[in-house]
Amino acid sequence: MTTPTAFTYQALPMRVVMGIDALDRLADEIDQAGLERVMVLCSLGRRELAEAVAARLGSRAVALHPHARMHVPAESAAEAQRRAKEVNADGCVAVGGGSAIGLGKVVALKYGLPVIAVPTTYSGSEMTPVWGLTEDGVKRTGRDPRALPVSVLYDPALTLALPTAVSVTSGMNAIAHAVEALYAPDASPVIDLMAEEGVRALAAALPDVVADGTDLDARARAQYGAWLCGACLGSTTMSLHHKLCHSLGGTLDLPHAPTHTVVLPHALAYNQEAAPKAVTALGRALGTSADPATHLWDLAGRLGAPRSLRELGMAESDIDRIVKVTLANPYANPREVTAEGLGRLLHAAWSGRPPAS
Ligand code: NAD
Repeated sequence: MTTPTAFTYQALPMRVVMGIDALDRLADEIDQAGLERVMVLCSLGRRELAEAVAARLGSRAVALHPHARMHVPAESAAEAQRRAKEVNADGCVAVGGGSAIGLGKVVALKYGLPVIAVPTTYSGSEMTPVWGLTEDGVKRTGRDPRALPVSVLYDPALTLALPTAVSVTSGMNAIAHAVEALYAPDASPVIDLMAEEGVRALAAALPDVVADGTDLDARARAQYGAWLCGACLGSTTMSLHHKLCHSLGGTLDLPHAPTHTVVLPHALAYNQEAAPKAVTALGRALGTSADPATHLWDLAGRLGAPRSLRELGMAESDIDRIVKVTLANPYANPREVTAEGLGRLLHAAWSGRPPAS
């Protein structure tokens, strides 16, 4: 065994209920959290599921608010906060992906109401104290312990309806959290283990999900990976990849998970030489002696995922703007981020060329 390097690790108070039929435990989790009047939140597309969830809760569910939207627009946040006050809710149950959970977080911030999350995608917001709010086209994010859900129920049956194309990009979004956790400035041995296992689980499960979206075992393995990757996101500081995706999403309104999928191999290729330990861990997780960035680019191709920003609707002429926005505020990254390097990275990602350092 090698001597561990120095580190600081702050465990987050996360409670996770995972497994087939985990949803059956929701009422118990609500009781355990001491809640009696919850508001159920979802996006419009998850309304039917959220209604079924509310029906299970009987009088514990005092309202259903099916208006969650991507990136939590300020007016949508204000509307949910108003509704929570109106029905005198003492907590929220967020059913869905990062949009529903993000809405729960801003209600928690305003009134201190605990959130219980029932995730149906792999994006990982349920494992983080990170909140986001979009006002006048600018997305602000921050960390607050009140935004971390008090309990998370992972039931793979709830992901069966997630279209396979969305499952792939959502899974790649999760893998990106683990990749950047492995070279984070606040990395630690505990998070390294979770990151490697999370990548291993997801990279193995996603091809099975694509082969058969109703394969409950594959869905459960993907969700297990998503939990681990989400926990990595919640415990570390993200670098170039996440900053770049934030710029692309915030400035050009590109779709969240597909953008992560396209950018990840390129951002990793940029950092690989400066992050040898992460490369070794990813090689083990992906079962490859090739470089992990190329492996992930190949994997995305095999799974039918988008591999160019052009196909997501970005114009080549936007590259310079994104370089400027991404360089506007400094952040930690294993390799120095230069305008020239970023421009090359974005040109490759825009045109769909294989990643290069
Ligand atoms: P999402 O929540 O926006 O969901 C995408 C779409 O898929 C929605 O229309 C939703 O109704 C639908 N959907 C969700 N689950 C489904 C299912 N099981 N079957 C069928 N359809 C389903 O997508 P997302 O990628 O999970 O979340 C993206 C948002 O979350 C972004 O705003 C992003 O910034 C945020 N996010 C935040 C964090 C954080 O830590 N704060 C982490 C990850 C993502």
